[in-house]
Amino acid sequence: MTAIPFDNSYVRLPDRFFARRAPTPVAAPRLIRLNRPLAAKLGLDPDWLAGPAGVEMLAGNGVPDGADPIATAYAGHQFGNFVPQLGDGRAVLLGEVVDRDGQRRDIQLKGAGPTPFSRRGDGRAALGPVLREYLVSEAMAALGIPTTRALAAVATGEPVLRETRLPGAVLARVAASHIRVGTFQYFATRGDTEAVRALADHALARHDPEAAAAVHPYRALLDGVIARQADLVAAWLLVGFVHGVMNTDNMSVAGETIDYGPCAFLDAYDPRTSFSSIDAHGRYAYGQQPGIAVWNLTRLAETLLPLLAEDEAAAVEVAEAALVKFKSRFEAAYRGGLARKIGLSGDPDAAALADDLLVRMAGNRADFTLTFRRLCDAAEGPEADAGVRDLFVDPTAYDAWAVRWRGRLAEAGRSPAATAAAMRAVNPAFIPRNHRVEAMIAAAVEQDDFGPFEALSAVLSRPYDDQPAHAHYAEAPEGGGAGYRTFCGT
Ligand code: AMP
Ligand code: MG
Repeated sequence: MTAIPFDNSYVRLPDRFFARRAPTPVAAPRLIRLNRPLAAKLGLDPDWLAGPAGVEMLAGNGVPDGADPIATAYAGHQFGNFVPQLGDGRAVLLGEVVDRDGQRRDIQLKGAGPTPFSRRGDGRAALGPVLREYLVSEAMAALGIPTTRALAAVATGEPVLRETRLPGAVLARVAASHIRVGTFQYFATRGDTEAVRALADHALARHDPEAAAAVHPYRALLDGVIARQADLVAAWLLVGFVHGVMNTDNMSVAGETIDYGPCAFLDAYDPRTSFSSIDAHGRYAYGQQPGIAVWNLTRLAETLLPLLAEDEAAAVEVAEAALVKFKSRFEAAYRGGLARKIGLSGDPDAAALADDLLVRMAGNRADFTLTFRRLCDAAEGPEADAGVRDLFVDPTAYDAWAVRWRGRLAEAGRSPAATAAAMRAVNPAFIPRNHRVEAMIAAAVEQDDFGPFEALSAVLSRPYDDQPAHAHYAEAPEGGGAGYRTFCGT
């Protein structure tokens, strides 16, 4: 097999960073979907990938020339509890390619069979979670949010045993890297400072090449990760995304959204929303996400202490100074984003006005996505107010706010059409609505019908465009989605 120009750097790290392990072949690979634009961006031939040899590779049935498959080692805090060894228990990193933009990308097969890190797991993935990750990660990319990507989904023709027998699948995932906060923790907890340094050098070369040449490269690395996470979590909040399992092993040093197990989008706005069945106490609720990011980044900073300064007290000072910067970076991104969402970019009072709207939305179970999208129409004139106010249990809660909003818009003096257009570019009409995602998975798993997956994928590839023929995909579920539950994608 050939056709993939692999250029693997992670395997050049010391042996204790990974276990060499080829994917385990599956019975009857069947391509569900290939992401052709992504394949082209990676410099891969989509026709080859969709052909017999390509599908064999995507299923893990053959190791292509130049691949050097490994399962990587990492640790992690799961719901606050430290687990010193997790690692890729069901994922195999085939290798890396340099894409058309010169960016190095991992190509990983998730659900590729057991590895030395599998513990009691089977190393496999069920079709439902694979489709969920494919759909939602690609939706995030279309929304403009940093994320791992989905290159392909392949059905294995083998069942996986969960509570029931489910069809199995493999997801080909593409990432800027799979280095997690937990990867640093794996070595730090073993007192292996040499490995922490080697990992930091690798991460610098990949994600912060200019920082590698700084006077204090490891401080620059920490600063870089903090800045990327602050921007990322702000971007999540601005589209109503709840990651659901922000364990340190699910936080990417590259700043991409990674691991789409129990994630979901808000319907009705309530910052206390958490969908995950295993998150009973709401540790990873929507509004907790910035605080949890800081908690995780503090764990990262701890691993880097030996590299930050000569003595520990000085290193702690450096780390603390870096961590406090999260808040201002996050606030700037989040508040700037809120101002854009209500069409008042540049107005110093906009974020406070948006905050007031959010309070009113929370008190009235207003749908997050619909409120902001319909507000774009209302920016063109009060005739469109009805569409927004109808989303509030008490519509007058909107009316009072709208008077003040219109005052600010008038002061800003931009044309209503220009304001509305700018707002439509940041307030999506289409998000992966939970009820739609569930229906899509049910059709695929129960009826072998991938029509809903294809249709939903197509709509979500243009989230900021009005698509009148697909308006029903924008609708909120009956009852505002209360009580929706997600489960970890194992
Ligand atoms: P996740 O909840 O997907 O972030 O996974 C947490 C850890 O459990 C990671 O180390 C995974 O590799 C491992 N894991 C999850 N599912 C499986 C499985 N089916 N087989 C083996 N390991 C798994
Ligand atoms: Mg994970």
